[in-house]
Amino acid sequence: MKNIQFENDILVIPDTFNKLKIIESDGEKFLKGEVDIIDNEGKVWDVYQVEIRSSEEYPFRFPKLFEKGDAFPKIVDWHVYEFDDKSCCVDVTPNEILICKKGLNVLEYIQRFAIPYLANQTYRKREGYYLYGEYSHGIMGRVEFYQSKLKAQNLLQLIQMIALILKGYNPYRTSICPFCHKSKFRRCHKNVFVELQDVSWILSQDIEVLHQLYSRFPDFKLPNI
Ligand SMILES: [Zn+2]
Repeated sequence: MKNIQFENDILVIPDTFNKLKIIESDGEKFLKGEVDIIDNEGKVWDVYQVEIRSSEEYPFRFPKLFEKGDAFPKIVDWHVYEFDDKSCCVDVTPNEILICKKGLNVLEYIQRFAIPYLANQTYRKREGYYLYGEYSHGIMGRVEFYQSKLKAQNLLQLIQMIALILKGYNPYRTSICPFCHKSKFRRCHKNVFVELQDVSWILSQDIEVLHQLYSRFPDFKLPNI
């Protein structure tokens, strides 16, 4: 995916990551080479062969990270978009969109997201599990994400909250929160409601799935986050 801003932003990357080179192929520039995973004592813990290419919406979505050295299976269970382009699934989509809200450049992406993702893969290869806990895949991953933001009492309340976000709920400054009852809405759920309005197109799809989930499993337990 050719993206002029991405092609400008990658120019400085070899200064910081000297094993990544800028490659041009089919009229598109991208990064290719090795990324070292370095431990706290400065020892190289692992080395990954990668390509980093632009996404369509960069810098408002992550660039695409591809692991090219067969270091881990290219399946959903290893956080790879198995049924799409086999790029790495570095975070759940709504969180990625919120992180990139003001634009995220590729240097920051590599440092803050790609390297921690790869380090987590190394940890799992060696220890058999993810160090920082594992987020789930698909809708369950998004339920965990919504719950981490909204802290609903149960699934029905989570659905009610999402419905209000989709309606642009914005009560008087002094209104009591319909979920917490004690304090005022502006002191509890207001900010997160406003934040999640930025991903309402995903919420509007997920609320349907959550309704189905609730009708089949009314006692569904939300994750404790
Ligand atoms: Zn509240």
